[in-house]
Amino acid sequence: MKFELDAINIEDGVRASALARRVIGAAPRDVMVSYVADGRQAARPLEGATDAFGGGKRRMVIMRRRAPFLMACPAGSAEFACCGYLVLTLASNCPMDCGYCFLQEYLADNPGFQVYANYADAFDELERLRRKAPARGLRVGTGELADSLAFDSLTGISRDLVEYFAGRDDLTLELKTKTDEIENLVAIDPKGRTLVSWTLSPERVYRSTEHRTAAPAARIEAARRVLAAGYRVAFHLDPIIAYAGAERDYLELIDQLFEAIAPERIAFISMGGLRMTSALRAIARRRFPDDPMLVGEEVLGPDGRYRTFTPLRLKLYAALSDRIRKSNAKPQTYLCMESASVHRQVFGEAAAPPTVVGARLAGD
Ligand code: SF4
Repeated sequence: MKFELDAINIEDGVRASALARRVIGAAPRDVMVSYVADGRQAARPLEGATDAFGGGKRRMVIMRRRAPFLMACPAGSAEFACCGYLVLTLASNCPMDCGYCFLQEYLADNPGFQVYANYADAFDELERLRRKAPARGLRVGTGELADSLAFDSLTGISRDLVEYFAGRDDLTLELKTKTDEIENLVAIDPKGRTLVSWTLSPERVYRSTEHRTAAPAARIEAARRVLAAGYRVAFHLDPIIAYAGAERDYLELIDQLFEAIAPERIAFISMGGLRMTSALRAIARRRFPDDPMLVGEEVLGPDGRYRTFTPLRLKLYAALSDRIRKSNAKPQTYLCMESASVHRQVFGEAAAPPTVVGARLAGD
């Protein structure tokens, strides 16, 4: 196991679930396992803790999900020119601890690391959706409220997911991660239906801000291995942080990526600037007061988020998209959570989110 846990709380109603049995079987013996009547209570912040959110990351709560598993991508709206896929919520919170992570605000009242034992219900929801929209390719991501692969060595959920999607030509699964937990993946044939994407940052951002994640080189190596195992791969340069020397570091990162993985094998690359609500900014600066990445020049946007000063953002986007464009294969590139006008200034054309199942993502 690559992350440490202090405790595992299992909701009484899911004691006998396959997930609970798998986790208990794989967890180190010194991790305390206890049973609780209601996982929602166990996921609440611990009273008196100095960093209740950080503590929640070390407490796994295996419970039944009461809400639907499938949701529309929260970034998908007419206002933003972004990718807009469906989100499948299989877990909530993450054992890693990135200084900019929006979960610090979003999960402040429920920081326990929840994993949903009834995740097979998600397959029923997907089947209902497929019946409603037959022959329409759907792209489904699991990395919204949790990293898709963190603790996969304990939960093994990726095996069931990849196998489900492997049998359905009209669906694509997108797993999104900052880990190198790929041993379950490389043991299964995804039959071209699963894309694994890594968020990449330069070494300086990783060292200063992305606590307990895999190093950028390890993420790229994990991507190379899953590609060889039959998965498609994509990358998110997000959040891009405009510190002194950022342009040189991000360009080197692109070069490092293209040296390891031929650009024509990359399904897409997304880019997005650092963005934080004022509440998130306050929490992040309180939890990580010495992190220089969290104190850049920012302006408040109409959506209530602070973003890096626009000319700095545009300059970085332009330099990166230019470097990507110069690669022989020009992987599809798009911006996430940026307006159509920013997209036009960077690419000189209207926003173009990645093509979904049945076209590029299914065929390359
Ligand atoms: S890996 Fe992702 S989900 Fe986990 S702390 Fe970092 S940004 Fe948040």
